[in-house]
Amino acid sequence: MTINDVAITYEVCEHEGFKYEMNTYHLNPTIPLDKQLKILARKDVAPEVAVVMWENGRQVERTYYFPQYQCRCEGNHEGGTT
Ligand SMILES: [Zn+2]
Repeated sequence: MTINDVAITYEVCEHEGFKYEMNTYHLNPTIPLDKQLKILARKDVAPEVAVVMWENGRQVERTYYFPQYQCRCEGNHEGGTT
């Protein structure tokens, strides 16, 4: 059996009300999951990372949140000029 676990990074904007997939990464089983997710979230500036893993032949999905990468666009909609 090959290890098929993947992490999907998501761009989320609560202000604009959207959420879309950015990138899918294959996870490395030799590196702690927390560490890999932190690296991926920072790379993509992703406030949400979904991990899809296979456990006993069933697909299990877990979502991890990175509030430090949350969209802060609200402040940019005022004025319109720089
Ligand atoms: Zn936003």
